[in-house]
Amino acid sequence: MNNDFLIREMKNYAELNNVPIMTEGGIDYLMKYIRKNNIKNILEIGTAIGYSAIMMCSVAEDICVTTIERDEKRYLEAIKNVKKANMEDRIDLIYNDALEVTFDKKFDLIFIDAAKAQNRNLFERFEKNLNDDGTIITDNMNFHGLVHKDLESIESRNLRQLVRKVREYKSFLISNSKFTTEFFDIGDGIAISKRV
Ligand code: SAH
Ligand code: MG
Repeated sequence: MNNDFLIREMKNYAELNNVPIMTEGGIDYLMKYIRKNNIKNILEIGTAIGYSAIMMCSVAEDICVTTIERDEKRYLEAIKNVKKANMEDRIDLIYNDALEVTFDKKFDLIFIDAAKAQNRNLFERFEKNLNDDGTIITDNMNFHGLVHKDLESIESRNLRQLVRKVREYKSFLISNSKFTTEFFDIGDGIAISKRV
């Protein structure tokens, strides 16, 4: 890809402004998954500044991403980055809370990378928009290692609540009879769910 400069710029911006973009290992895996499974239409929840959307699109010329972001500053930043990447015709940026958005169309991949406490809601809201042989990938399943820690050792009450939520989501995926899910210790932990 000849967007090397832009990618570096986005990573710097993310670092400076505390934007939690995908880690190298995570994005790498995601891109390989997209290539290997010939994925063409992607729905992303959580655009941030457009880093992962641009990376996913760069896998092949005919990939399209629809992506949702509720934070205005990040959304505006994403618009700029998508323009710089010349991907305006392939990346559809939606400025809204994903829990307010509905679609009729279907996607090959739904990538959930938004508020951790909303994972289950988001999964259940958009599963009808997944093609029969499609995949739902969820990021941040390890929550920086916190998911495997004793709850009592986590001091912040808010953080404990979030960790509980991520664990609940994990149980939801494991016990979901419509989907089968694999968990990978890649990046910040990802879950790959496919219809049974
Ligand atoms: N996928 C991005 C990183 C996303 S960070 C990348 O790797 O480049 C998570 C983003 O999700 C944040 O910017 C946050 O504002 C957004 N978000 C969280 N909950 C959301 C919701 N319900 N609807 C839309 N955006 C949401
Ligand atoms: Mg993430």
